[in-house]
Amino acid sequence: MAACLANVQRGFSALHHSCLTYFHRPLISSFVINSRGCACHTDRASISQSIFEEKRSSKQWEDSLFSRPRSPRDNFRTCTIDMPEDRSNKLHRGELRAKVLKRRAEKSLYPPAEISLHIIGSGAFGAPRALYMLAGNSSYLFNCGEGAQRLLCEHKMKLGKLEHILVTHLSWENYGGLPGLLLSLHEMGLPSLTLHGPPDVEKLIERAQSFVKINAMEVLKKEYSDVPYEDETLIISYVPIWGGKKEKDGFDDSDLETTNYCNLEGRKRRRLNTHNNAEMRGSGQEDALKIKERDMSVAYICRLKPRAGSLLLEKCLDYKVPTGPLLGCLKRGEDVTLENGTVVHSQDVMSPQDPGSLFFVVDCPTEAFLKSLMKSGHFQSHMETSGLDPSVIFHFTPPEVMGNLKYQDWMSQFPKSTIHISLNRDSTCLGNREVYRNQFKLNSLDPVVFPLLKEFPSVNKNEAEILSPLNGSATSVSSKVLAISATDGVVQARTLTQFRLRPKMGLDFSSSIVISSEEALSEIPSNESDVNVRDRVHESVQAKRDSDTVITSESQDFPRILFLGTGSSVPQKTRNTSAILFTIKKKHHMMLDCGEGTLGQLVRFFGLSKTWKILTHLNATYISHLHADHHIGLISILQAREEAFMLQEKPFQPMKLFAPQPVIQWLDFYNMHFESIDHLYQAHDNALLLNDNETMLKNVLESLGLRRMQTCRVSHCPDAFGVSLTDLKGWTTVYSGDTRPCNNLVFLGMDCDLLIHEATMEDDMVEAAHIKAHSTVSQALDIAERMQSKHIILTHFSQRYCKIPILSQSAALRAGIAFDFMQGNCIPMDLPSVWDT
Ligand SMILES: [Zn+2]
Ligand SMILES: [Zn+2]
Repeated sequence: MAACLANVQRGFSALHHSCLTYFHRPLISSFVINSRGCACHTDRASISQSIFEEKRSSKQWEDSLFSRPRSPRDNFRTCTIDMPEDRSNKLHRGELRAKVLKRRAEKSLYPPAEISLHIIGSGAFGAPRALYMLAGNSSYLFNCGEGAQRLLCEHKMKLGKLEHILVTHLSWENYGGLPGLLLSLHEMGLPSLTLHGPPDVEKLIERAQSFVKINAMEVLKKEYSDVPYEDETLIISYVPIWGGKKEKDGFDDSDLETTNYCNLEGRKRRRLNTHNNAEMRGSGQEDALKIKERDMSVAYICRLKPRAGSLLLEKCLDYKVPTGPLLGCLKRGEDVTLENGTVVHSQDVMSPQDPGSLFFVVDCPTEAFLKSLMKSGHFQSHMETSGLDPSVIFHFTPPEVMGNLKYQDWMSQFPKSTIHISLNRDSTCLGNREVYRNQFKLNSLDPVVFPLLKEFPSVNKNEAEILSPLNGSATSVSSKVLAISATDGVVQARTLTQFRLRPKMGLDFSSSIVISSEEALSEIPSNESDVNVRDRVHESVQAKRDSDTVITSESQDFPRILFLGTGSSVPQKTRNTSAILFTIKKKHHMMLDCGEGTLGQLVRFFGLSKTWKILTHLNATYISHLHADHHIGLISILQAREEAFMLQEKPFQPMKLFAPQPVIQWLDFYNMHFESIDHLYQAHDNALLLNDNETMLKNVLESLGLRRMQTCRVSHCPDAFGVSLTDLKGWTTVYSGDTRPCNNLVFLGMDCDLLIHEATMEDDMVEAAHIKAHSTVSQALDIAERMQSKHIILTHFSQRYCKIPILSQSAALRAGIAFDFMQGNCIPMDLPSVWDT
């Protein structure tokens, strides 16, 4: 056995530079290695002593983590302001900023020659809602749901050109991706950005700055108004659509169109929670309440500015116009007289002017908004044949409202030539191609640890005919367009479907994301040596599994872990931000951290129907600290979870939430100002679980299937925690969250069964790791040794490593490396080791 495993390891190292290197570490990663054999004899007394010394010698910033009493307000500030920053980062950002400023200064005053709209997030369940418009050197983004940034990056949309983000309606599905995107844009050196949307749209960003540090970027606000926005490319008119609780309150909005709503005091259209409602009713402010409860969605009517035709050089030659200034005159529309007396008219040598097309972006969030939409005069002038036909209307409207006869009737009043594209739950495209490809590769190594992803976006028959690449000619585009609009009426959004506005106009499916297993399989290396190594790996893994005790009983099958996000800070193609689904026992799940897009990751892994079931059994979530890459996916999980209970007709149970106080405050704020979510969770401060305080939450823990849950403060930012979870059988799993090497954690996790530790940096970046308060691979392994944990898995890898972090051979043999969608039972026999101890 040992010889066989040694062969595999030799095979790995021999292949270090071959394409199978890619497989090497993933395979090792799938096996949890016994680290107890390492020479280390730490005892509790010496750890207590070293904790004391560590505290005494640490810098002021670190001191604040442990001792300084803080007000809640203080928490928010210190989390971002006190986090140290690498100087090289600042310099790099400065350079990028200079480039962006230069590009903006050089921008032409004339409308760009090429303008196209790209669907980024289709609105499918688990996918963001986002529409990107590229116009020369500027770009615009309509809505930015969770995961939009990941798709924008994977599909190489030019984020450096982004100048405007336009939000339709204040709901998480429209802007859940905004905090993360702004953070990335800030790092890219973007000097400013304009945010358009309903009143209060900027509030979210202001508050999110407690965990999204964007102090070097100016976020300008352009609230909807009667005055359109205008730049060199287009004119955007804002159309308010009103909803609210009029039926309940007997509030008739027939007078709405004449109301001067701009002057109403109650323009904060927050969704008040019941407590506030009661308070206001009690104080006799019922009229104000009616106004405040009203909700607003903003539709955008976008009109491209006309663009002059271009000079047709062949025609100029025919007229014998000499090269030189006369060509410039003709281009400017002036007629010229040649030396021989011939008069050349500009219109004879220029292509016709592009008058500028029109498109709409509409979001009618619920049926309560229908009346206002129907009555809006802004759309009526573009209905039937007015000469100002919209070429395309993007509907962010949900399926249940689009199916309403009133909405259908409203749509039917637009000219037949108008294309309707919907970005909503009826879509099936999640949009990430690379995730599927990667999992196919990993699956070829071990289908147990890396199962194939369930959700395979299906293509409907109509689309299938059209999705073959187009030739790019205008006629083929428009004939495809007609084929669709005549049969279906509405095109369902698919990531990277384009609508070209200029120079040729029409729908283009040539880049639309369709994932085929054949394509993914064809990318798996198949030369002889690769296949040999793979076969040897399979054999040795199987042999190891056969030699271990076969575990079949259910009681021994838990706990299980499924990594849903294993990258740090910014989501990338194959590694999303932090999330681990920890299954304590059957139908008892708990999420450890919940980065942006975690819901989408669940859908990819389990498929739609199983995701609904998992959500109803997701009894708890633990958040380690306030950084966005650890909790920004929480709101969509909470909202989807409520939906899951409703769909399955089960009585709703709020989710237990263990989180640092600032995260709980952030959710409270969101609840107060945007959407009612406080009924979806029961919050417990992580600090309650410090220092053997677990008896305080004994009942709560028991209901989760846990014997004990303890936290400790770790060395990362204020209110950052590590956690230890012990199930009823006594199996203990420790999760570090983000931290520098931390003695508190060693003490907390002493003798644990499994340590999941962050390893953001490679070993030669010790200094950078220290500055950013993270750990290197060797530091994480050292913690495991001192803790005497039986097994260790590393996660939270810097996104600088596109697929796998750089590890020494010995490190690779001592630790498992987490990958997105890597699953396993925590029991060592089920995760055989290639390290024969
Ligand atoms: Zn992190
Ligand atoms: Zn962090």
